[in-house]
Parts: sequence; C-alpha cells; structure tokens
Amino acid sequence: MSKVQNIKGMRDHLPQAMLLRQHILAVVTRVAERFGFEPLQTPVLEYAEVLEGKLGDEEKLIYRFEDQGGRRLALRYDQTVPLARVVAQYSGTLTLPWRRYAYGPSYRGERPARGRYREFYQFDADIIGSSSPLADAEIVALLSEALAELGFPGFTTLLNHRQVLGGIARVSGLDEQAAGGVYRAIDKFDKIGAAGVREELLRLGVSPAAADQILLLVQIEGEPAAVLAELAGRLAGDARATAALENLRAILVGLAAMGVPAERYRVAPRLARGLAYYTGMVFESITPHWPEGSLLGGGRYDELIGQFAGRPIPTVGLAFGIDRLHDVMEELGLGPRASSPATAYVTIFGAELAGASLSLARELRAAGVNTLVSLDPGAGLGKQLKEADRKGVHYALVLGPDELARGEVVLKDLRNGEQRSVPREAVLAAMGAEG
Ligand code: AMP
Repeated sequence: MSKVQNIKGMRDHLPQAMLLRQHILAVVTRVAERFGFEPLQTPVLEYAEVLEGKLGDEEKLIYRFEDQGGRRLALRYDQTVPLARVVAQYSGTLTLPWRRYAYGPSYRGERPARGRYREFYQFDADIIGSSSPLADAEIVALLSEALAELGFPGFTTLLNHRQVLGGIARVSGLDEQAAGGVYRAIDKFDKIGAAGVREELLRLGVSPAAADQILLLVQIEGEPAAVLAELAGRLAGDARATAALENLRAILVGLAAMGVPAERYRVAPRLARGLAYYTGMVFESITPHWPEGSLLGGGRYDELIGQFAGRPIPTVGLAFGIDRLHDVMEELGLGPRASSPATAYVTIFGAELAGASLSLARELRAAGVNTLVSLDPGAGLGKQLKEADRKGVHYALVLGPDELARGEVVLKDLRNGEQRSVPREAVLAAMGAEG
C-alpha cells in the first residue's frame, strides 16, 4: 500500500467528533428510555439471504461476500431487517408490543457524498406488535423530543401514508405495477422539482394527463387537517386511501394529545421514502439548515417482520442518522465542541512534588471531575499550561512548594486567564458546578 488511508465513504472519528457523537447518542438514548424503549444489539454480519428480497431496488447496495467457510454473508444494510430476524427467532421470549432501540453501524455501497457514507451509524427505535395509531404517534413524539433536546432549530417532520400515495397512483389510472417507479419519482420532488418529476413520470410511460393529476395531488400543502380534508375529497373513490387518511387523522390526534407542538409536523403527500417495506405511515424529519437530505426517517412496516415470523406483526419505527445529525450540528455549532472530556488539568512542579499533584488529581476524579495530570514533571510550568490549553480544559491547577506549604492551590481559569490561590479544601467549590 503506497498511501496510508481509510476506505472511501467510511470515516475515522477523531476525539472532537466522537465527543459530539457521544453527546448525540446520550441524548437520543435518554429520550428513548424515557419512553420505555429497551436496548438491543445484533451483529453487523447476517446471512446474505436474511437481507435479500426485503429492500427492493436498494438491494444492489448490500455488501456481500463469502467467508472462509463458504457461507454467503452480508454487512447489515440497516437495523430493521436484523430486528425482523430477532423477533422471529426469539418469538417465544419476547412479549409484544415490544419497544426496542438499537445503535450501531450499517453499510451501503452508495456513492459517497456529504452526509452520505458507506459506513454510517443509525439509532433505531421501533414498536413491534402494535397497529395502534398511538404507536405511530409515539414514534413521532419521541423523535420530536430528541431533535428538540439536541437543539435543532426549525425542524419539521413530514408525514404521509403509503396508501395515500397508492391512492394518488390509482386515481391517476396507474396499476400497482407502475406505482413503484412513480413513488420513486415523486420522492425526488424536493431535489428535482415539479418539472423534473413530470419528466420522469413521462419517461416511465405515465400519460401527460395522469402526470399532471399526480403532480397536483402531491403538491397539496397547508395545515395538516386541511391537507387531509382536501386529499379525502380528491381520493374519495379509493377505499384504501380513505382508510389511510383516517389513520393519519388518528395519528394527528395522538400527536396533539402527546403535546407535540403543531409546528413540528406537516402532512406532505409527496413524501414516499425509498425503502420497499413500508406499508402505512411514512415520515422524514428535515431542517432548512440541511437541504441535502433528511435527518432521519421511518414509518410503519406491517409485513416485513411477518416474512420471518410467518405471521403478521405490525411494526412502526424510525432511524436517526447519527452521521447526518453530527454533520448538521457541527455546521450549526450545536452541542459540545471540546476535544477532550477533561475539564481540569493538574500540573506537576517537579519529581518531588509529583505525589501531592497526583493525590489532588485523585481527589478531583473522586468528586466526579474529569482530570488530566501532567506526565512530565521535568517540563516547565509554561509547557504544561500549554498542553492544558491545547486540550481545551477549563481549569489548570498548579501546586508548587509555596502553595503546598500554605495548603493552597493556584486555580487558573484558562477560558479567561484569571488565576487565584484558593485553600485546597475549597478548590472544588471554586471550580463551581462543573467541579
Ligand atoms: P433509511 O434506513 O434509508 O430509512 O435511512 C434512515 C436515516 O439514516 C436517514 O434519514 C439518514 O439520516 C440515515 N442514512 C441513510 N443512509 C445513509 C448514508 N448512506 N449515510 C449516512 N446516513 C444515512
């Protein structure tokens, strides 16, 4: 190998990035557990046949290989298909409805771009074994709370239903066969605009009149209730679409009852979502600060788990794209910016005073303060303070012979350069809430 490098589309996350990612994970985990979701972890590798036949068009993006034993394996593409396998495999031990969350990397052979990687981390939350619209609403309430707690400004969740799209295709005179391509064309609306979608529909063989009808319907906008009412009128002849609109209405009632602020969601009939396995509500959260794509997405998939379990198990869930959240938060300056988890740095005056500094560091750690200590008693104070500064810690604590004799510590606030001597027993209090 001539040049040392990592694989394209797969990223190394250095400490500053990791601290932000861990913060995101901690917030999202906290919110999921607040709703009573339970943790699950599955391997990154599955038998290829577990993933095959579940993803529609996207199946070509699966990384597949044969291992030394001749087994056909695949890197997981998402955490949803592995969940379906788990539900089937442990059906005797799991009680439904089951709320589970999972965090880990998934792999897709995509063309890498900003916000689109070949290895990326998702945090999934799903409710398995409930067809109640309250379950759909709970998933949307969970993601709304998480995005709000992460500090995202102006995010919105777009809601739609697969059978609303189906109804749009049917009233436009298209059969089920043609509908898949139509959904994919509609899904690109925000990227290629109405004219682009029209062109694509015509290319798929949709008549100009049907294309115009589809475009009219998918562009209906406004208050959620008004959008539903207008769609109900226009899709009145289609029983499945009518039931889907009823279902969306019940989900909206749940959202309001759960206290999700009305400005955080909209009904968007143009939202299709790429994956083949959705059967009911679909959604995506977006922010104007990130026009490149969704922060997260999900929906109801009532049939996928049944493919493994042999009986229908209605399920609804979502996947936070941790990489997207990370990229956008970095760009917007949200979340922690530190490159070290430490907030304090204890200097060492010289070899003979190392013991005193080490015991001060131990006391700080015992009190819960993340503390770095110099590893180089021979280095001058200036050099040690420079290291503390580079690490971005808030406080340097200097313990020289004079301070030791007086029972004091010099506390230097590296954020503003102020320093003062404080009695050793008062150091923690002087460092304030952060310890
Ligand atoms: P999906 O599993 O396709 O429904 O995607 C769910 C979420 O995962 C998306 O909204 C993105 O935030 C994230 N995601 C999907 N694909 C990628 C990728 N290639 N790179 C980074 N994040 C992704």
